[in-house]
Amino acid sequence: MVDAHLIQISLISWGKENFRQFPWRVTRDPYKILLSEVMLHRTQAIQVVPVYKQFVNIYPDLPTMTQASKSELHNILYSLGLRWRIDMLHQMGSDVVRRFDGKIPVAKEDLQSLPGVSEYIAGAVRVFSWNLPEALADTNTIRVIGRLFGLKIKDSSRRNRLFRDLLLALLDLENPRLYNYALLDLADKVCMKKQEPACEQCPLKSWCLYAQQNN
Ligand code: SF4
Repeated sequence: MVDAHLIQISLISWGKENFRQFPWRVTRDPYKILLSEVMLHRTQAIQVVPVYKQFVNIYPDLPTMTQASKSELHNILYSLGLRWRIDMLHQMGSDVVRRFDGKIPVAKEDLQSLPGVSEYIAGAVRVFSWNLPEALADTNTIRVIGRLFGLKIKDSSRRNRLFRDLLLALLDLENPRLYNYALLDLADKVCMKKQEPACEQCPLKSWCLYAQQNN
């Protein structure tokens, strides 16, 4: 039997001992968090760290970034690849100035109306900037949920209603930021994709069907 409240407490308590340290986790500035999420798309965090630091050093806020030319942005971002990101950031900056008076919008539909802002990125900006209750569904968080409930995991599972409902049902509504950091970090460090999950170290093992079936 899964107890959502106990899972939340266990997960956040594990997180406080194990959180990964990233420069975009020490800010609540939605511009910087949006920037980091765009950079992290399909790119490893370790690659993003130096680029992110350089970028926010040169362009510390959105008005400054919107003054930059595409080639100036390219000079910093080229090492991350995915050229669409550069065009998209340029366009996104102009859109925010034109449509939202230069402020990153809070409403999810407004965020998702910006170029390149997916449902995941919009949710990440809301939860990490403003601590709003968002259950972030990506391949990593869905893998943990799938194993926890003994579900078969496919590429399409992050769009599957059951997975998303379970992810939402476990969300800590009082501490969504810490909860999401902990779930993402657990997926990276313990409930791994390319190696066997380290269930003996996992704070969720007593509820986890995968751990019970493979013990
Ligand atoms: S117990 Fe194992 S399979 Fe289950 S969530 Fe933890 S690491 Fe993943």
